[in-house]
This record gives sequence, structure tokens and C-alpha cells, in this order.
Amino acid sequence: MIATPTKNPHTGQDYLPKNAINTKKPSPNQSLLPLTANINDRDHLEIGGCDIETLVEQFGSPLYILDETTLRNACSQYRDGFKTYYQGESQVIYASKAWSSLAVVGVIATEDLGFDVVSGGELYTTEKSLTQLGYSCQEIAQKIYFHGNNKSVAELKQALEVGCTIIVDNWLELQTLVQLSQSLPDQSIPILIRLTPGIECHTHEYIRTGHLDSKFGFDPHQLETVFAYIAEHKSLNCRGLHAHIGSQIFEKQPHQDLAGVLVEWLKIGQEYGLTLPELNIGGGLGIRYTEEDDPPSIEEWVKAVSEAVMQACQRSNIPLPKLIAEPGRSLIGSACVTAYKVGSRKEIPELRTYIAVDGGMSDNPRPITYQSAYSVVLGNKMSAEINETVTVAGKHCESGDIVIKDARLPQTHPGDILVIMGTGAYNYSMASNYNRLPRPAAVLVNNGEANLILRRETYDDLIRQDCLPEKLIP
Ligand SMILES: *Cc1c(COP(=O)(O)O)cnc(C)c1O
Repeated sequence: MIATPTKNPHTGQDYLPKNAINTKKPSPNQSLLPLTANINDRDHLEIGGCDIETLVEQFGSPLYILDETTLRNACSQYRDGFKTYYQGESQVIYASKAWSSLAVVGVIATEDLGFDVVSGGELYTTEKSLTQLGYSCQEIAQKIYFHGNNKSVAELKQALEVGCTIIVDNWLELQTLVQLSQSLPDQSIPILIRLTPGIECHTHEYIRTGHLDSKFGFDPHQLETVFAYIAEHKSLNCRGLHAHIGSQIFEKQPHQDLAGVLVEWLKIGQEYGLTLPELNIGGGLGIRYTEEDDPPSIEEWVKAVSEAVMQACQRSNIPLPKLIAEPGRSLIGSACVTAYKVGSRKEIPELRTYIAVDGGMSDNPRPITYQSAYSVVLGNKMSAEINETVTVAGKHCESGDIVIKDARLPQTHPGDILVIMGTGAYNYSMASNYNRLPRPAAVLVNNGEANLILRRETYDDLIRQDCLPEKLIP
């Protein structure tokens, strides 16, 4: 009995939203579970053909389980969507801050995507992976875009060595690049200019970046001065503009508005003699974390953005730029689940029942940081009937360390496996060793095979960077 669960067997709710346009080829960001999820004849959840209990027995818990099919699907829906709906050139780049690791870069690179990195460490990881995969220096340079509102001189030098495009965020950076370019004769530095477009969107305050009061990018009133400065400095090869308005956005309108704003600035920049052949509209499409969440599909988003850019270019009478989008969450978020083992239980009569799992805010800091909601299934008893409301707590010394408040679940017992969905983005990448918990392992699953992509940390890893000064040792 292999059944593809279209409904959550515990709640009877559909895994896909009612208006999902294509249930034959679902959009990963609209699916709570990875696309390969099955219930097998042991009544276990299976992902990428791998039984969840077997994975936990083999690799331990907590465990990040990344489904290669879902990740590749999201990549191709973005890539092919732009080919279908945008009449100019396009490039999708993965916002690797969502999850940066050698294997994640490896999968995404083979889907022909590029990479947005925001630190020397992400640049290093991406470059190392691409080098090991056999890409040439020139290909690597073309694939990477370097972001950040306070890049250090060392990071800028690192970027110049790689030859990647630098997305310039502020005056200090612009001036530093001009200085550094003096030691690079005959070479102009490929840059984009990041601007704050003044667009509001409905998402958590901490992940909103497009409104005027934001630390990112040039304020619009400075832009013409920036254009004039770049036009005077031939060592800067300004290829276009960039803006990113925020994350976990369910509306299409803000991105459509953004396209209009950016195209107007392209036109103004061109009046300063800059060619500006590229337009990067950032990322931000949301994913379904709970049954109430109803984001547009990747295809709908790509179509809306493509049409908005084409219309704006027609209005402004400028040629279509190479359109770049840089999704993170909607590429990888829905491709991963986290498996935890259930431990202790605390019942407070007429108030609340807590069940604790063997991880928490150290492997998933989103609930405590953004009050993020998640969904859960009992992975080793998929068809068990729901009969209680419990709060799933982490094991950290912090009352706020809650994984899910008021989850509807079947009766659970110690050792049962809880599976939290949608943990591909901003989980491992934001993980910590709080309370000195070793960070979990991660596996890449596909066709019944599980490959380790992240070794579980050991206690020795925890003290690897510690130093005990000689003088403390009697
Ligand atoms: C975070 C970020 C992204 C990706 O955002 P998602 O919501 O994960 O798609 C893209 N571009 C920039 C500049 C970012 O900071």
C-alpha cells in the first residue's frame, strides 16, 4: 500500500492549497510536504523513497532530510518559467543564505542556477563547491553575485579575486572598490547597484527590506549622484540595478510594483550614459508552512514579475534587460523536513500538554526569532487518528523554545518520530550550538538512496575552537 498523501491523514486537510493551479505538477512552495512524500506499508512517512524511521535509525535525530526531487523541481520551475514568460534573457540565482553547503550548491549548480552570497564564508563555500564540481574560474565568476550591507575590505578583495559581480550597497563600498581597482589595471569591476525602492509588503518586520527605513541599499534620493559617480569611474562596470523587498511574501503586487520602480531607475541611469543591461528583482516568494498559508505558485509569480518588467520597459521605451531573480526560501524551504524523536511529556491539567523533542531552537531558530508557525506529522504512525492538542517544545533552557504551539496530533510516545515540514530555508543556515547541542546531520534523499551531506557534530567539534590558556592550568 503505497499512497501519495494528498491530504494530511491526521487533519484531513489538503497538502496543496485549494487554488493550486497545477496539481499534476505541483509548485513545491505550495506543498507542505516534499513532492516525493509517501505513506509506505509500515504506515511510515517516506521521502525520496526513504523510510523516515530507517533514516533516523541510520543517521540519528534530529535529522534534516532534503529531498533532491523537490529542490530540482523548484529550480526548474523558476528557470523554465522565465524562459516561458520573459521575452529577454533571464537568470535565476539561489539566495544561498537560505542554506549554504557544498552539496546544496552542487545540486543547484547542475540546474543551471547561479548563486547570491552575502559573506566571505558563503562565497568561500560556493566557490569551493563549484571548483570541486569542475567549473572553470570564468564560469564561477559568472555564477556568483555578492551581496551585503557592510562587506569588509577583505571580503571585497576576495570577491575581486573570484571575479564575481558585486552588488554595491553603499557609498563606502563604492569608494573602496574604486580604490581597490587601482591595483587591478585594465580590469573593470562588474557591479550592480542595490537601491531601496520604497515598497511596503506584508511580512514580518525583521524580514522586510524594501521600505525606505531599511539598512539595505542606496536611498533613492542618492541614486542620481551614484550614477554620476559611476559614469566618471571607468573601473566600475555597472551592469544594472538590484532591489529585494522582503521575504515570505504571498502577494504578487509588491513585486509587480517593484518592477515598475526599477525600470524607471534603469531609464534614468541610462540617461547618465550607463548601459545597465541587467535588472535583479530579488527574491521573497513565500512558502506554505501551515494549512492556512496560500502563496502563489512559482509559475504564477514568475509570470506576474516577467509581465510587469516587460510592460514597464515598453512604457519607458527601453530594451528588455537580462532579468535576474534570487529566490531562497521558495527554492529550498519545502524540500526539507526535520525529524525529531519525542521524549518527555508534561501535562498541566486544563491548561496545556507539552511534548518535548530532542532539538529545538538550535536547529530551527525561526519560531523563537520570528514567531514562525510550522506543521507536523507523526512520521512513524501516519494514519493514526488525531486525539490531542499538544505544544511541541524543544529541549533548550528557554521558555520560548517552542517548535509548534497547539499542534493537533495522535497520541505520541517516547521514541516516536515527529516530522516538521518546510525546514529547508533558514534552519540549518541559522542553526547554533546553544546549550552546546551538536548541530544535526543532513541527508539528501532520492530514489530510495540517502547520502550524508552534513555530518552530525560531535562533542569534540563543540570544543574544537576553544582555547584553555596555559595560566589556568595549575
Ligand atoms: C534573503 C534575500 C533573498 C532571498 O529571499 P527569500 O525570501 O529567501 O527568497 C534574495 N535577495 C536578497 C538580497 C536577500 O537578502
